[in-house]
Amino acid sequence: MSENEFDVIFIGGGPGGYAGAIRAAQLGLKTMLIDDRQGDDGKPAPGGTCLNVGCIPSKALLDSSKHFHHIQHDYTDHGISVDGLSIDIDTMLERKRKVVKQLTGGLVQLFKANKIEFVNGRGKLFADRQVEVTPNDGDKYTVTGQHIVLAAGSVAFSIPNVEVDNELILDNVGALEIAQVPKRFGVIGAGVIGLEMGSVWSRLGSETVLLEAVDDFLPVIDRDMAKLAQREFKKQGLDIRMGCRVSAAEASDGKVKVSYTKDGEEHQEVFDKLLVAVGRKPATDQLLADDSGVSLTERGQIEVDGSCRTSADQIWAIGDLVRGPMLAHKASEEGIAVAESIAGQAAHINLDTVPWVIYTDPEIAWLGKTETQLKEQGIEYKTGSFPFAATGRGLAMGNAVGQVKILADAESDELLGCQIVGPSASEFIGEVVVAMEFNGSSEDLARIVHAHPTLSEAVHEAALAVDKRAIHKVN
Ligand code: FAD
Ligand code: AMP
Repeated sequence: MSENEFDVIFIGGGPGGYAGAIRAAQLGLKTMLIDDRQGDDGKPAPGGTCLNVGCIPSKALLDSSKHFHHIQHDYTDHGISVDGLSIDIDTMLERKRKVVKQLTGGLVQLFKANKIEFVNGRGKLFADRQVEVTPNDGDKYTVTGQHIVLAAGSVAFSIPNVEVDNELILDNVGALEIAQVPKRFGVIGAGVIGLEMGSVWSRLGSETVLLEAVDDFLPVIDRDMAKLAQREFKKQGLDIRMGCRVSAAEASDGKVKVSYTKDGEEHQEVFDKLLVAVGRKPATDQLLADDSGVSLTERGQIEVDGSCRTSADQIWAIGDLVRGPMLAHKASEEGIAVAESIAGQAAHINLDTVPWVIYTDPEIAWLGKTETQLKEQGIEYKTGSFPFAATGRGLAMGNAVGQVKILADAESDELLGCQIVGPSASEFIGEVVVAMEFNGSSEDLARIVHAHPTLSEAVHEAALAVDKRAIHKVN
């Protein structure tokens, strides 16, 4: 194989591309990874949206702001009070940058250790699996791969008449770099990103308003669970307005004027910063030459089959570029599965058991089907739920908000879904993922010994409640 030929070339070094490239190299494939992202210092910053401007920096800010909020509001019951509490936003942002840098730098080391040919630059796919490489600091050249994996991820959606400048009108990139607590913070879209970033600035003192077009809060989970979460967010001071469709935003004199319609009437609001969080779209711009042979769907995603094969031979696509949840762990699993398929192994990804998490407080985590979906599909089901307020651990922590809800098949008892609103939901949703992946039943969860006292006992009790035999509540 010549210098410019590879077994596999990954274009895009986010959680999909980098995890896939590492797995391919582990399997002995000659692997190239091309990623264009650079840090503030001009150094390569692989890790994609997730590490640079997504999952990780948002969680860093969520954690900082959560500590601040807890000290301010939740610790007096524990006998803890603090005089003169303050937060230094520069230090908070610097900590976030350090976390990101540590992770992106760590990846570069991993690429070296795995002998991956890593190029910091852009890749573009042409016919016959040829990739034009434009390094950030060099001249263009062409490489060829036996296989190509497209992993270019996604970019924020925009809406008409709302122009992101990342000064006053922000997307996720700008929202992670706000240097002062805005007095009034507006958010368009009460989805995952809107709720997380809205929580950060609300906790730090911004009067925060979320304008959401649809009438139902978080339609992706059951109404009882969504109501529970919405009630808690309201208590925290988040002003979430449903049925409000934003039609325009105008920045002038350091303020943003937002126009929206609700029930057919025009309304306006003025904010100090506005976040546009209305979803994301696949980053296919400048990725495919006209002769690449790769087809897109009507929604602009790259068309793939269940194994991430595109319409072109030996070209694969993964992560946010393709159907399925736009989540980092889904992208990584697809990258790994594709690498294994290329190496001739049997690989499998089960999109039905991908867990979702919103890292608000309480956290919201779920997987599988909701009651609405089960009704639509005519599947008979039973449910069991259990509140954290009835767990010893939740009360001892002083953080007993929320509940676990489990859905199981009415006849076979097979687990069909789970939703958790509550503390650390992101961590112990994992046990339900495992149970569902093994086609487990609610009876299985009910018979597993859970450590006491833990929050995960709420999962145990919810499973018992499916059969109306929870111990610590009236069934
Ligand atoms: P990406 O991470 O987008 O990576 C693709 C990379 O390819 C990018 O670095 C891009 O610059 C590069 N690239 C694009 N085109 C080219 C090209 N032609 N040549 C070279 N390089 C190219 N998901 C979660 O699971 N958990 C979370 O908590 C979470 N929080 C989020 C918070 C925010 C604010 C945002 C915006 C997203 C969040 N997500 C979260 C979603 C998650 O970031 C994405 O699902 C995930 O990053 C997708 O991975 P990917 O590998 O498909 O693409
Ligand atoms: P998510 O898909 O989780 O990122 O959430 C994006 C949210 O933005 C969805 O709930 C959409 O309904 C909402 N949205 C999209 N366009 C608008 C708009 N013009 N005004 C208000 N909300 C919107």
